[in-house]
Amino acid sequence: MQERADLIVFSDLDGTLLDHHSYRWDAATPALTALADRGALLVLSSSKTAAEIEVLQDTMGLTGAPAIVENGAGVIGLPSHPQSDGVYDELRAALEALPAQLRAPFEGFGDISARTLAQRTGLSVDAAIKAKARRFSEPGHWHGDAATRTAFLEALGAKGFIGRQGGRFLTLSKGRTKADAMADLVAFYRPKHTLALGDAPNDIEMLEAADHGVIVANPDGPDIPRLEGEGSQQIQRTTLPGPAGWSNAVLEWLAHLPPR
Ligand SMILES: [Mg+2]
Repeated sequence: MQERADLIVFSDLDGTLLDHHSYRWDAATPALTALADRGALLVLSSSKTAAEIEVLQDTMGLTGAPAIVENGAGVIGLPSHPQSDGVYDELRAALEALPAQLRAPFEGFGDISARTLAQRTGLSVDAAIKAKARRFSEPGHWHGDAATRTAFLEALGAKGFIGRQGGRFLTLSKGRTKADAMADLVAFYRPKHTLALGDAPNDIEMLEAADHGVIVANPDGPDIPRLEGEGSQQIQRTTLPGPAGWSNAVLEWLAHLPPR
């Protein structure tokens, strides 16, 4: 495991480093190469599970690097990080204890087969099995009206769980965000510079906590409202969506860093 990192890039995956539709990331290759050349640590930070992220890390040459999984509910690759096993079972039990009119409109990953998940997301069945290997949180779709959704989230809130809307799913968890996990990694590595990139409201804390934040354009996702940091240029937006916008933003960030 890498023990020092002066530069750390925290990056969301879907709609950010991965194309929203094709899940491809090859348009980001120039920036990935430049980060590796500089010895920068790239921390993938996603709603994905450890099983899913490890596959991507292997294809990107990031095997063994730390990563933020399940929207910040867990961290892998950092030995000191506390694990909280049993959270997923507790969450599923809380869902099943809800009144039927609140429970029915929420369709979580635990409610559908890997084959159905694969059909809906475009993932392979094998990838869908990894997406269902959850430990800390439950993503799903809300099929009901807004008032019932509010009541659903209030009822779960009384049991210690919250819901957050990402680019694709409503994810239920105990509320640790990507920024909470990011703070653990910054405390461990003490980097000189940090960059964060994301495309959806569940990335906002991470974008605001980094030295520099980049909102990657996603015409198909929920909008990120104008953030305070955009006035001071701490936060910027890309023109191009997905990995092409990601690559340009990372290269620009590297070019403007002070000399070592
Ligand atoms: Mg995203």
